[in-house]
Parts: sequence; C-alpha cells; structure tokens
Amino acid sequence: MAIATPPGKGGVGVLRFSFPQAAHCELFCQAFLQKIPTVRLATLVTLRDASGHAIDEGIALRFAGPASFTGEHVLEFQGHGGPAVLQAVLNHALEQAQRLSLPLRHALPGEFTQRAFLNDKLDLAQAEAVADLIDAQSVGAAKAAAASLTGVFSQQVTDLADRITHLRLLLEATLDFPEEEIEFLEKADAKGQLQSILTQQSELMALAQEGVKFREGLRIVLVGPPNVGKSSLLNALAGEEVAIVSPVAGTTRDRIVQELNIRGVPLVLVDTAGLRVTDDTVEKIGIDRTFKSIQEADLLMLLMDAAHPDQLDMPLPDVALRIPRIQVWNKSDLLDSLPDNLGEDQCWVSAKTGAGLETLKDAILHKVGFNHAPEHGFMARQRHVDALKVCRSHLELAHAYALQDDRILDLFAEELRLAHDALGEITGRLLPDDLLGLIFSRFCIGK
Ligand code: GDP
Ligand code: ZN
Repeated sequence: MAIATPPGKGGVGVLRFSFPQAAHCELFCQAFLQKIPTVRLATLVTLRDASGHAIDEGIALRFAGPASFTGEHVLEFQGHGGPAVLQAVLNHALEQAQRLSLPLRHALPGEFTQRAFLNDKLDLAQAEAVADLIDAQSVGAAKAAAASLTGVFSQQVTDLADRITHLRLLLEATLDFPEEEIEFLEKADAKGQLQSILTQQSELMALAQEGVKFREGLRIVLVGPPNVGKSSLLNALAGEEVAIVSPVAGTTRDRIVQELNIRGVPLVLVDTAGLRVTDDTVEKIGIDRTFKSIQEADLLMLLMDAAHPDQLDMPLPDVALRIPRIQVWNKSDLLDSLPDNLGEDQCWVSAKTGAGLETLKDAILHKVGFNHAPEHGFMARQRHVDALKVCRSHLELAHAYALQDDRILDLFAEELRLAHDALGEITGRLLPDDLLGLIFSRFCIGK
C-alpha cells in the first residue's frame, strides 16, 4: 500500500494497494469501501469511519491479477489530493486491515514495479524505464523512456539473444557428429550467422549509447576568448537569463551550467571563463576550470567574434582535439555582409538578434550524432551499454575461435554463452538480487 501521487496538494490523490491473494483483496474492499467494485469499472464510493462519518469520496478501481500493473490483485482509490485527507484514508485502510488481520503495510520505493518485474509483467529494462519516464526532464527524454517502457529496447535485446541461442543450439547439435563438426558448421554457415549477429549487436549498441544520452543529457561546453558573447549565446539558447552578461572582459569566472533541450533532446550547456593569456590569479583559476570542463565535453562550441576573427591568443588543450567541435561566429549583426560559404562545422549567429540560432541547433544535434528523433530511439542506461560491451567482447572472441579448429569449438561455445548471459543482465533475468534491490530502491514511493 502507498500513496501514489506526489506529496502536497492536488486535485486528486491516489492510494494504491496490491495483494498477492485475491481473497485478501476482496475482504479488504468489503471492509474499506463497503463494497467489492466490479473489476475494471470505475466505482463511486464514500469511505466512512466506524461511526459512519464520511472520510472521503472518490473512485475505486479494482484489477484482478494477473491483468494489473503488478500482476497481483490491485485496488486503487482516487480521492481528494490533500495531505490530511489522504492520511485519514490511509489510517482508515490500516485500521480495516488490522481488524481483519490482513498483512497490509507501506510499500517500499519501487515495490509495485519490482513486483511487476517479479511477476513477469515487465523485464528489468522496462522497469527502469518506468523510473526514467517519471524522472524525464524534457518531452524528448520522456518519449524515449516511453519507448523503452513499451519494450522497444527489450525487444531488440531479446531478438539478439535469440539469434545467439540459435547459433548455440547449432553448436550443441554438432556434438552428435564429432568427426565432422567443422564441416557441419560450415554448411550451416555458422560464421556467417555470427557475422550478422556482430552487425546487429553494433547497431543495437549505437542506439543504446544514444539512449544513454537521452537520459543523461549531452554536455556542450562553450569556449572562446573573453567578450565574444559566450554567456549571451547560452542565454539565447536557453531562452532565459541564466548567466551574467557584462561588457567587462573576464566576468564569467565560474562555470555556469544550464539544462535545456533542443528539439526535445536534453542537453547540458556549460558556459566557461574566456580564454586569454592573463596574469590575474582569479582569471587563471577560471581558465583552469574551463580546461577541466573541456575534458568532460561531448561537444565543444568554439565561439569567436565575427568582427574580430583572430582573437584566440591561447591554444586549446590537447584533449580538445578529440572532441567534436563547432566553430561559431557570433555578433553577425555587426557585419555588413555575411559569408555564405562557411566551411562544414561552422555557423554564424547573433546572440543579440537570434539570427542563425536555428541553424546552430541543427548543427549541434547533427554533430553529437543524434540521428534519431527521441520518439524513434529509446532510452537506455549506462548499465545497459556496459552489458552490451561485455557481450561485444565475448562475441569478438567467439568470432576469433570460430571454426578454426575442432579442438577449440568448446571455447567458441563458451564465449557465445557468456555473450548471451551479458544480454540477460539487461533484461534482468540474470542479475543478482542485491543489484536488483539497488535498482528498485532508487524509485519513488508508490511506483
Ligand atoms: P562572454 O565574455 O564571451 O561571455 O561575452 P558576453 O556574453 O558577456 O558578451 C560580451 C559583450 O558582447 C556584451 O556587451 C554583449 O552584449 C555583447 N554581445 C554578445 N553577443 C552579441 C551579438 O550577437 N551581437 C552584438 N552586437 N553584441 C553582442
Ligand atoms: Zn561570459
């Protein structure tokens, strides 16, 4: 049992109950609601205390297992969304359960979803998507999480696992023909199968990596000399005043981090202290921080003043070379004419007038490799990508062993098994209980 709506005042407050046993659910309904609502039929009820005084009026919904969120026998009461009235309803529920000696207690965080997982209503990647959907900070992230929740990601993992299983079965079958194992496998094109499994795996991994970005947001770091308009551009992209904009060079000494989303894709934009050769100690600290920010960047936006194109008197650190970069010429409003043949990965904008911002947004998404609109991808976690990497390394070993020699066929088989197991960690069928507990404990109460 838990209050499923957030604390505080709201139009509606929802209490959710999940009973492993149907009889307990019905007994409880009779005592709590004084009736047993027809399954899946919204039923208006008045809750009354022992002396007949009304506690709340609302809608009761009953779901019979296994056709419910948890797979158990579920009752939801939608009452009025105030903390006091919900507490009164909760007390009433506990009293009734106690009177009947029903084992009713407060649910742990994520316990409803955990039960859904244990009852095979969802696999682990889907269960995680429940939490990610609730936590999503942008419409795009929410769409990606919803795709994972409905099984888009899990299905692709399962398809891959099935193909590995198929190959493993083929290997098992050869054990019946110890003399001609290799020939048998060659006829069945085991190597070709493995090759196409590898291709499918790398496509899935690329999507999953993109899915992690949907969840965590990409870090875009704005760098450039002082006064070129870094803070102004951050504000223009964010659409609100978040950084200090000032005509005095060297104002942005601290990092300013702003979450925003571009076309639904969640991003983290980091404004930095301007880079220039300086003797000022405080400014030097700022520049050190800029260098640190650069190391964590998924994308660098190197900003320059279009009217003064040769201002950067200090080289970027070596790490910057490995990071995708867009060169942005700001203050285009100060130019009489704009060059129309800028090279690739270059844009001009005016943070002041907003000119060129839409083109810049397209360039950002293109450059960081968002090839899918959020609704065409899915959300994933780093845990999933790590498992896919393990799977990858075993598949590659399997590929190295494949059909070289009869004597290492069992190594081939073993690597396939390990690759398969790694996929099982994503859907959670092969994850130890303590890890499962950890994943669900991060959910909110009532989910
Ligand atoms: P930062 O030091 O790189 O963060 O630069 P700021 O954002 O603080 O801007 C420095 C100065 O340039 C301020 O006076 C801004 O108003 C001005 N500025 C910023 N962007 C533009 C622009 O697109 N056009 C013009 N004309 N001025 C700008
Ligand atoms: Zn600034």
